[in-house]
Amino acid sequence: MSQAIIDFHAHAFPDALAARAISQLEHGGGVKAFLDGRVASLLAAMDSVGIGTSVICSIATKPEQFGPILKWSQQIASPRIVPLPSIHPKAADPIGQARRVAEAGLLGIKLHPYYQEFDLDDEALFPLYRVIDELGLLLVCHTGFDFAFPRDRKGDPVRIRRVLERVPTLRLVTTHMGAWDDWDEVEKHLIGQPIPMDISLSLDLLGQPRARAMILAHPADRVVYGTDSPWGSQAGTLQALRALDLGEEREQAILWKNAQALLGR
Ligand SMILES: [Zn+2]
Repeated sequence: MSQAIIDFHAHAFPDALAARAISQLEHGGGVKAFLDGRVASLLAAMDSVGIGTSVICSIATKPEQFGPILKWSQQIASPRIVPLPSIHPKAADPIGQARRVAEAGLLGIKLHPYYQEFDLDDEALFPLYRVIDELGLLLVCHTGFDFAFPRDRKGDPVRIRRVLERVPTLRLVTTHMGAWDDWDEVEKHLIGQPIPMDISLSLDLLGQPRARAMILAHPADRVVYGTDSPWGSQAGTLQALRALDLGEEREQAILWKNAQALLGR
């Protein structure tokens, strides 16, 4: 029996904020959303392609957003929705906030070097990384360039390796095949290492031969399906993955098995 798919990288917003958030992000990034940003719309889209569970990555663009995001995350958490709240690195007590995430029973934290203005291997972040590690939380981090920002290297493969050299057991999940649009560096520094990466917004840009080669050269249990919904299409990402013809075992691993292990299910 094949299992329901797990999307490790999706976004949604509280209903009252969704319309404004989507339009602001569309303008900021010059992109068009596939969905309206509400959890109900995400669930409907999940149903249409057979996605059982989505990991919702929130991003606190200001320190004071931690509380409201945590509260909303607790409200929407369900067997089908795994919310990852977000801590702003400039918060007064990021370590205390990480503990509150764990106490709330949530599985991890999302960070975004561009929206939160930090370099992944900033010295100031290491106390937070260590606590996330100690608490056994997942850390999903935007990695690679971001189409809404100048191409400064804030979360590139070299910085990823530096973080993991110092906190080797950190459960870091990278996005966009290791680092968005920085795939020469991914091949040099990440491929072949036991570092989880999602496939969102990358397969089409990489092209089939290269995407296939990278995935096959990476540990089989370290690639997960992710769509970056609403910025990527769930059906489109699924189609692009299947077109790579990776074989049943690899495909099932990417679609749900690896994610299930990361989520401890
Ligand atoms: Zn995203």
